[in-house]
Amino acid sequence: HELPGDPRTDLIPREVLHACYTKVSPSVDVDNPQLVAWSNSVGEILELDPKEFERPDFPHIFSGASPLVGAVPYAQCYGGHQFGMWAGQLGDGRAISLGEVLNSKSQRWELQLKGAGKTPYSRFADGLAVLRSSIREFLCSEAMHGLGIPTTRALCLVTTGRYVTRDMFYDGNLKDEPGAIVCRVAQSFLRFGSYQIHASRGKDDLALVRTLADYAIRHHFPHLENLSVSDSLSFSTGEGDDSVVDLTSNKYAAWAVEVAERTASLVARWQGVGFTHGVLNTDNMSVLGLTIDYGPFGFLDAFDPSFTPNTTDLPRRRYCFANQPDVGLWNIAQFATTLSAAKLINDKEANYAMERYGTKFMDEYQAVMTKKVGLPKYNKQLIGEVLKNMAIDKVDYTNFFRLLSKIKAEPTIPEDELLNPLKAVLLDIGKERKEAWTNWVKSYLQEISASGVSDEERKTSMNSVNPKFILRNYLCQSAIDGAEAGNFEDVRRLLKVMERPYDEQPEMEKYARLPPAWAYRPGVCMLSCSS
Ligand code: AMP
Ligand code: MG
Ligand code: MG
Repeated sequence: HELPGDPRTDLIPREVLHACYTKVSPSVDVDNPQLVAWSNSVGEILELDPKEFERPDFPHIFSGASPLVGAVPYAQCYGGHQFGMWAGQLGDGRAISLGEVLNSKSQRWELQLKGAGKTPYSRFADGLAVLRSSIREFLCSEAMHGLGIPTTRALCLVTTGRYVTRDMFYDGNLKDEPGAIVCRVAQSFLRFGSYQIHASRGKDDLALVRTLADYAIRHHFPHLENLSVSDSLSFSTGEGDDSVVDLTSNKYAAWAVEVAERTASLVARWQGVGFTHGVLNTDNMSVLGLTIDYGPFGFLDAFDPSFTPNTTDLPRRRYCFANQPDVGLWNIAQFATTLSAAKLINDKEANYAMERYGTKFMDEYQAVMTKKVGLPKYNKQLIGEVLKNMAIDKVDYTNFFRLLSKIKAEPTIPEDELLNPLKAVLLDIGKERKEAWTNWVKSYLQEISASGVSDEERKTSMNSVNPKFILRNYLCQSAIDGAEAGNFEDVRRLLKVMERPYDEQPEMEKYARLPPAWAYRPGVCMLSCSS
């Protein structure tokens, strides 16, 4: 068996037992690799001199073709539940971590190359990534950060100059696509599945769950390391005194609760901007509460609770937009079960973590939706009603809320002009639906007038949570089409726009447009796990 950090570097796919990772070097083949896009703001957190991006060896280092001095590359062992079923060992099948950068603020940032060749975790696959999926991951990582939503970051996108073969629709039609590599950056890439895998292997590896939990707490949750009663983290579950969960006496329980709360808050933020992850398997759930692993994700265009960007998830729609909050809880339950199996938390503590997930999600979701409509307090009726109307009329989730901030609390507007500010998103609606919307706007006007908040103040506040620009699928697709033809201008421009999604950017207005007709043609924007 392998010990942690075993120097065995062959790439034979195998079960890696009793270890959290395997040392493995990038093995990708390159031919004149090119740096095609990069994030200055990630460069800044790494304290990378901007001149470094111009180094002639930069594309070689960030494709993995040349070693990074001081790096000890490795691939992580993890498992996971895929679509509700335990899938056993998965692991970094095409991600290789180069190591960590410690910046002057003592922050650790892990650099990881995605698509740099096989590892022992590659199973039947090639360890590579195509340009199309790498552009999506690169842009969405930075777009989510721009939206203020916790996420892994992306330092740069490098093309390998080699082709990768893909069966896009699993129909036997093979296609050669340009290969590329994204350098992902996060404080940690530990997932729920990083713990599950060791618990699943029983007695021998249960100790690893504790070791890895200690590691995560020490480095990423240091405030939980030395809990004391004065932190008053003790809660009653309301079932009498025996059921008090004292989080000060067990750092693992406090940790489970914090992971649950971070996850709840993350999912609430996703719902607020219409982000649908697409593959919420437990191996794609970060213990830091980051959005991780951008594959067949999608932002809502028209509001549709059953929106499912991942064709692999049809017709079941386990990971559709509206199911994300429940799936988050299901995943937390798996994580809590893992910590229980390793005797780090008891059943009561596990239940408490799940309960906290629910409470935290509702609190955050209500806060997000309240801010989206610009009201001082949660109004279930009004928000429920507007979402129902939006679903019926297929109203754009982003542009609707952005335009809503233009409504003014003037009591004198004639009834047939009430919908004017929303004209651009209420397309082709009949008389009956117009009436429904007019009624909604009337109740809304009542609420905003009663709130006493000025129009200007409300607009500013709403525009700080309702983005003007989101990374719509069709925008990604256009940038990909350009890039596949050798033009990376649109990728770079999209990055710039999405770095400031809440700002009006008049010269970039076209990136706020509704999807054009071509985006709906079958096959154009179909996404699957195969990338
Ligand atoms: P995902 O659906 O992206 O979360 O991936 C699930 C598992 O498949 C992870 O263990 C990945 O590392 C692995 N995987 C996905 N694509 C590839 C690939 N092209 N080569 C090797 N492993 C892969
Ligand atoms: Mg994954
Ligand atoms: Mg993936």
